Amino acid sequence: MFKKILIANRGEIALRIQRACREMDVKSVVVYSEADRDAKYVKLADEAVCIGPAASAQSYLNMPAIIATAEVTDAEAIHPGYGFLSENADFAERVERSGFVFIGPTPDAIRIMGDKVSAKQAMIKAGVPCVPGSEGALPEDPKEAIRAARAIGYPVIIKAAGGGGGRGMRVVHTEAALISAVQMTRAEAGAAFGNPAVYMEKFLENPRHIEIQVLADTHKNVLWLGERDCSMQRRHQKIIEEAPAPGIARRAIEKIGERCVAACKRIGYRGAGTFEFLYENGEFFFIEMNTRVQVEHPVTEWVTGIDIVQQQIRIAAGEKLTLAQRNVQCRGHAIECRINAEDPYKFTPSPGRVTMWHPPGGPGVRVDSHAYTNYFVPSNYDSMIGKIIVHGDTRDQALARMRTALSETVVEGILTNIPLHRELMVDAKFIEGGTSIHYLEGWLDQHKR
Ligand code: ADP
Repeated sequence: MFKKILIANRGEIALRIQRACREMDVKSVVVYSEADRDAKYVKLADEAVCIGPAASAQSYLNMPAIIATAEVTDAEAIHPGYGFLSENADFAERVERSGFVFIGPTPDAIRIMGDKVSAKQAMIKAGVPCVPGSEGALPEDPKEAIRAARAIGYPVIIKAAGGGGGRGMRVVHTEAALISAVQMTRAEAGAAFGNPAVYMEKFLENPRHIEIQVLADTHKNVLWLGERDCSMQRRHQKIIEEAPAPGIARRAIEKIGERCVAACKRIGYRGAGTFEFLYENGEFFFIEMNTRVQVEHPVTEWVTGIDIVQQQIRIAAGEKLTLAQRNVQCRGHAIECRINAEDPYKFTPSPGRVTMWHPPGGPGVRVDSHAYTNYFVPSNYDSMIGKIIVHGDTRDQALARMRTALSETVVEGILTNIPLHRELMVDAKFIEGGTSIHYLEGWLDQHKR
């Protein structure tokens, strides 16, 4: 096992990784920007090194500064968390070339999966069902786009091959709107992701977002750890996640889980990963793979009892997975609410000083957050300041626990989306379970204020 790990991230995930290290008796080094100087996890780390100003480009995305820090602190491995450099194949490569272990997949696997077009092609080869769409990236010729859309049938969605974080997508309902939509998405993709390639998929009108968590070691062992339902989304961004997915037959989930394991074996995948699917009329359609730990990993940790972050570290250290698939059992039900520093109905960011932070507690409640009373939420980064996760024997018990937890939570000084979560937890359709990815946007339209 490593003696020391460098954490190349911030916020709640930096704290989460640090906790995993501490439990395993591994020392941790955190890198931080000037805006995060006073963060609690920076103080709690064994070592902390300021690597630059607030702007991510100069700090959390600053590869030379991060690698130099690993050198001077004698860290052996680098955990990238999620976001920032976590899915940057060049970074993974530079980490390994500098003699450190990258806690994640090989640069090649990141590269293939990071391009959604090559990811889909790899999945088709591996026998994983995909959303019907264009064969590879759309060529420049507009006639080709028209031909592809006619073959697929409207509505279609134009997606950036290099897209992420819910950005770089455009839905098209008619042929008249197609060409300009392709051009606009291409231009935006070039500017935002440095890759103008776009592709086309059938736009599914009523799907759910279901994803499969996998773990693969370097000894050809692969496990799938059940599924998560992340259908509660706004602008393609998840806000509530749960495990298991309500109302889907176990056999159907098992079949797709086994497909994911087979795909991992085929591509020689290593580390933690997530296969994302849209699920409609009893069928699964692959949309993309995330080659890193995800924000919503705690719901899986809770139902399976497996510490995903510790497993990532063990795999990176070359250890064998000690569990067999038959030992992976899902127990009860877990739900996560992402707490964002934002206006709960207008969604404008609300950075600033938290004058009161009172997290919930009690049976079946977990809070992953770096916030505290007097913490200053910087305006430079993502607005998520923490996650409340609950577990119950049944989904109803988990829902009741989430309602109780949200009723206890007090955050003052900034706005948060907690009022929205409180309303959603008593919404009849959500309580019933199985709402589609478009449900929340519809709900927000009806509850305009
Ligand atoms: P990102 O990498 O930006 O997260 P994804 O490909 O994972 O992009 O898609 C994010 C979300 O966008 C999905 O969870 C879903 O809500 C929506 N989406 C993507 N593809 C489709 C599609 N073909 N039909 C309908 N919705 C889609």
